[in-house]
Amino acid sequence: TTVTPVRALLSVSDKTGLVDLGTALSARGVELVSTGGTAKALREAGLAVKDISELTGFPEMMDGRVKTLHPKVHGGLLAVRDNPEHAASMAEHAIGPIDIVVVNLYPFEATVAKGAERDEVIENIDIGGPSMVRSAAKNHAFVAIVTDPADYAELIGELESNGGTTYDFRRRLAAKAYATTAAYDAAISQWFAGVDLGEKFAPLVSMSRVLAGSLRYGENPHQDAALYVPRGPHVAGLPQAEQVQGKELSYNNYNDANAALELCAEFRGQKPSVVIVKHANPCGVAQGESLLEAWQGALQCDDVSAFGGIVAVNTPLDGATAEAITQIFTEVVVAPGADEEARAIFAKKKNLRLLLTQGLPDPRRAGQVMAQIAGGILVQDRDNGAIGFDDLKVVTKRAPTDRELADCLFAWTVARHVKSNAIVYARDGITAGIGAGQMNRRDSSRIAAMKAAEAAAKFGWAESRAVGSAVASDAFFPFADGLLAAAEAGATAVIQPGGSIRDEDVIKAADEAGLAMVFTGMRHFRH
Ligand code: 5GP
Repeated sequence: TTVTPVRALLSVSDKTGLVDLGTALSARGVELVSTGGTAKALREAGLAVKDISELTGFPEMMDGRVKTLHPKVHGGLLAVRDNPEHAASMAEHAIGPIDIVVVNLYPFEATVAKGAERDEVIENIDIGGPSMVRSAAKNHAFVAIVTDPADYAELIGELESNGGTTYDFRRRLAAKAYATTAAYDAAISQWFAGVDLGEKFAPLVSMSRVLAGSLRYGENPHQDAALYVPRGPHVAGLPQAEQVQGKELSYNNYNDANAALELCAEFRGQKPSVVIVKHANPCGVAQGESLLEAWQGALQCDDVSAFGGIVAVNTPLDGATAEAITQIFTEVVVAPGADEEARAIFAKKKNLRLLLTQGLPDPRRAGQVMAQIAGGILVQDRDNGAIGFDDLKVVTKRAPTDRELADCLFAWTVARHVKSNAIVYARDGITAGIGAGQMNRRDSSRIAAMKAAEAAAKFGWAESRAVGSAVASDAFFPFADGLLAAAEAGATAVIQPGGSIRDEDVIKAADEAGLAMVFTGMRHFRH
């Protein structure tokens, strides 16, 4: 399946590396055929080149709109060489095979980017180039299609070591070729789609993302999956992290570890903090004087769920914390660093995936997220809104104490990373109970309280950590019941957006229960 090339067609807008490639091909006796500008550049370097017009019998015409669109070109590209009927057609119409195609396209995106007028943009829609790219790529069984100057060296290398192009190389080139034409057409369609949303969401809906690797499978074993990363500046995310050890990350690992990392990033520059995540929801979050203390707090919130969990920490891992984490089965640990001792301890758990990130991503960074629906894609800004102390409005007779206020903000920060309906109890910088993903708020509140009670019973505490806690709700309490469930569990402070038509009833119930309540004026649904 190695094809020894006899003829190459070169037609490139970006002339980088062209002469070197032409020289190497010529030296191996490959005939060069080129379009106007490309032929000129090769000739000026002293190489023998045949003009495309000589091959087609037609001049290049209509401002170059029609140069290579001809059966002599596309027949030479598409003919199945070992098919007798195709061979007969080639003979009948004097079509010679083309074995290598080197094409890069009119610079459409660059033309748009420089703010060119409509006519110039239109003229930079390459027609013949993509046609050749697609013809050659379809026939990669025989034809090598090179669309990127970065691949010239490998092409020359193949010719040197194999005397021709191997099937594997041609197949890889073909895959890249179709990605190139797809991206090219996507850029054109986006330009047509106009400026407003087109520009805003371009980074998401275009091909401006590159494949970072395929994953073993998706959310379930029968689903294929891959990881893409955006071109351009990167955030300190998982694809950029160094994986020190452990099995490859699965789709679910990425999804869960990202949830852990994003919540942990909220504690950038704060006290040592630990987040434990299961199925993209935190099941324990805590801050402490040391990372070990934070780990213990997070684990005790719900140590049943923590089994097989994903852990993220906001400061470099030390040996003591690593030792404690490895006491239970953990799938992934994400950290901004790990000392020698910690690494040595993790090394004993071969399967545990340890990822070291380049710092923590900015939780308030801008960007967009998308979700697919049948027949469409929903795109929205990231939920990067945030409130500070000054935005809080005390609505009850009693104002929260400083400690309650600190716990309110901590619980609020966690709640925005919990799937709705989210209820989070926290005391002294430790989550006491987390209720996630329920279809009504009262159930989330009850589940969170139940977890707090279970932890107290299990660890033999005199009282549940929900006693004296702050409770956060990701959206307003539509009725007093969810709030009363929290009061019953022992919560003394409440943080919630407010904005319900029954706010007055809810505030009255809070006052009667002696609760202190603050409104944030901002909601954090997460689905
Ligand atoms: P050159 O600089 O060699 O004159 O032109 C090279 C460019 O022309 C390449 O970007 C190639 O994709 C493009 N091209 C080749 N054939 C055709 C054609 O038939 N029509 C159009 N519009 N562009 C072509």
